[in-house]
Amino acid sequence: MEVAAYTPMIQQYLRIKADYQDAFLFFRLGDFYEMFFEDAMTASKELEITLTAKNGGGDQKIPMCGVPYHSAQGYIETLVDRGYKVAICEQTEDPKAAKGVVKREVVQLITPGTMMEGKGLTDKENNYLASISEIPGGFGVGYIDLTTGENRVTHFHDFKEVLNEVSVIGSREVVVASDLGTDKEVLLKERGISTISYEADHTVKEPFRALLADVKQDGLPETLARLFNYIERTQKRSLDHIQAARHYRTEQYLKIDYFSKRNLELTETIRSKGKKGSLLWLLDETKTAMGGRRLKQWIERPLINETEIEARLSMVETFMDRFFEREELRELLHEVYDLERLTGRVSYGNVNARDLLQLKRSLQQVPAIIDVMGRLPNEAAQAIAARMDPCEEVTDILERALADNPPISIKEGGIIREGYNEDLDRYRDASKNGKTWIAQLEQRERERTGIRSLKIGYNRVFGYYIEITKANLHLLNDDRYDRKQTLANAERYITPELKEKETIILEAEEKSTGLEYDLFVELRDHIKEYIPRLQQLAQEISELDCLQCFSTISERQHYVRPTFSHDKTMIIENGRHPVVEKVLRTQEYVPNDCRMDKTNEILLITGPNMAGKSTYMRQIALTSIMAQIGCFVPADKAVLPIFDQVFTRIGAADDLISGQSTFMVEMLEANHAITNATERSLLLFDEIGRGTSTYDGMALAQSIIEYIHNDIGAATLFSTHYHEMTVLADKLDKLKNVHVRAVEQNGKVIFLHKVVDGPADRSYGIHVAELAEMPRAVIKRAKEILTVLEEGKKKVPEVKEAEAPKEEAAELAQLSFFGETEEKDTKKALKGKELKALEELKSLSI
Ligand code: ADP
Repeated sequence: MEVAAYTPMIQQYLRIKADYQDAFLFFRLGDFYEMFFEDAMTASKELEITLTAKNGGGDQKIPMCGVPYHSAQGYIETLVDRGYKVAICEQTEDPKAAKGVVKREVVQLITPGTMMEGKGLTDKENNYLASISEIPGGFGVGYIDLTTGENRVTHFHDFKEVLNEVSVIGSREVVVASDLGTDKEVLLKERGISTISYEADHTVKEPFRALLADVKQDGLPETLARLFNYIERTQKRSLDHIQAARHYRTEQYLKIDYFSKRNLELTETIRSKGKKGSLLWLLDETKTAMGGRRLKQWIERPLINETEIEARLSMVETFMDRFFEREELRELLHEVYDLERLTGRVSYGNVNARDLLQLKRSLQQVPAIIDVMGRLPNEAAQAIAARMDPCEEVTDILERALADNPPISIKEGGIIREGYNEDLDRYRDASKNGKTWIAQLEQRERERTGIRSLKIGYNRVFGYYIEITKANLHLLNDDRYDRKQTLANAERYITPELKEKETIILEAEEKSTGLEYDLFVELRDHIKEYIPRLQQLAQEISELDCLQCFSTISERQHYVRPTFSHDKTMIIENGRHPVVEKVLRTQEYVPNDCRMDKTNEILLITGPNMAGKSTYMRQIALTSIMAQIGCFVPADKAVLPIFDQVFTRIGAADDLISGQSTFMVEMLEANHAITNATERSLLLFDEIGRGTSTYDGMALAQSIIEYIHNDIGAATLFSTHYHEMTVLADKLDKLKNVHVRAVEQNGKVIFLHKVVDGPADRSYGIHVAELAEMPRAVIKRAKEILTVLEEGKKKVPEVKEAEAPKEEAAELAQLSFFGETEEKDTKKALKGKELKALEELKSLSI
């Protein structure tokens, strides 16, 4: 339909909507936000609100639905939480003053990455908006949490690493240039990035230049500039709380790729995708929301610098030694609100008086926190005490300015404390005096008229009035009483003096609420000047919170302080899996030892299903990760190498992709591990090769082990049910067999969960079958077959010697799936659906 046929308002709507094609346009119409056309149809479904139709000038009615202005927030949050964007379009002139259609403008675009409040945000999680740019030699990745102002930037050579990083930080929205390429956008979408936004402008603008002082690498300032420009364009408000950008490299931390993080259930469990049951859940004894977020960041990025790790451990130990100080600190932290997000709201301009009250309450705890830290016998703690800035000026002004119980609204008064501003006090006095005068008048008039039920009341229409019941009217004899309203059993009057006082009171009240609002805005702007100091304080408090958290949990769970070796030695005595130990109900966790060193780099773990192989492997990875975030570890003694990377190939990721592709996922993860691992890495391989035929699987497993043994030298835990592989220990001198014990007792299999030296008993399966009372003939025959198979062991390829040239070994490890010629053959063999799955998998990076 011709645009001209629509009413002027709908034409205005269409003009504005043209700039916000990818968002719901919330079009303000009086007390409602209305949506039209497509928007209305989708929104009515998503929000379960009624779809109506409006005459818009054309021959057909226009679909329309709307939400009331005052309850819009919930609807906006629902849409944004589902990955949509919402453009808020307000009336920007007074409708009464407007000639023609009221002017309207989009004042804010709310997207998943720019949410400042609401159900999409979790206290203990950051909400990162990320940007990706192509830069010379690779890609830049920048991200910001708009609620806290924290922002970082890093770079990668490979887009796979980019995907990994944005998945790790859990970003839901990514800002890119429109020419990034649809193939890359598809990959991002596959990784659960629901919203892709475009921003062409990547020039570094003046106000942001200072924030980028530490970002020097070619292309990276522009990566962040794109982000800032997007935020500025869409949010249209002050961004004073954006902090100076930090440039980091992932090599500065223990690298754990996205799938390994999931496999190890560091911050969420695989099945429920929730925090409960994860390492984060177990460790989280933080008292503040910002401490909770910091803890998550620490778990996601364990350290590799020994000095930094020891510094954390030493504080944790001090807190263990000084129980009373720790408890005192915990109580103080309990009173500290989310300084980071409060500061963000101050800057954003959506802070209310209750928020400022929380800020005051939080800051009031700081002197006592400093005092506690100063009392700890630890140099680092003393240094923190000396350095920590309590921002007293802010506490002081908030104490003087804020009333004790301010309302949520900032326009109704009741915010500012008495004595803070003389004019305000005067208005308040005037109003108070007026009210006292009225109370006295009531008393006087009662006495004068002798009407004891005479009373003075107030309503919006008539203002103050004197009310006399009809029964008492005969007592009234005063011509100054002017009748204003007749009720069923009373008359209401005003008098000239009452009117005069009323004017004074109302004027004073109006002036005082107006002044209070101005004073509040002034206060808010004043606090803005302290934003960098408040942010610094928030950072320090959040770190202290994490350290006390480590010490609280370590004490409760009887963890021990780890020490670090520099020669690949790992000694864990009576180690436990921290989460399994906590959640086991019916039985005690069986602690296990682990010993590895440079003469013994690979443990080949055998044992029946359910024996505890995978738990044991995870326990060792989690112990190392806990140590590298600076926490004590679940063991009686722990000497650990500092790892540079952790790789896992554990069955649990299987459910990521549909069943038929399981084996490919397994191979991709294995490939990723062996091509990136170094001799300082930790590798966990659980039942590799299980997904294919026995010989195929065994061949792969063996060649992978040989490659790790001869060419990588990484600490490796390899579980397998191919008993044949245990003979490898004879040939590979750095490989040792261990097994998880299980025994039979009174006709039942008992899993002892105990890891001991040597290979598992190979006839174990038959033994279990016997226990299950299989026919004796079957058992007998199985034993015969086993003997034959055991003889066939000779057919197992001879073990390759350690001196194998590097290229050859590498070739062996580059499994046939990845070779070009073989790939063609493989493709021929695969049917359409499987082929598609294969293609998908190959694009899926790890
Ligand atoms: P596997 O990998 O050998 O099949 P798992 O590691 O999955 O076995 O362990 C099976 C179950 O045994 C786990 O769910 C856990 O409850 C229990 N388990 C494992 N290790 C221990 C242990 N050390 N102490 C107590 N229970 C354990």
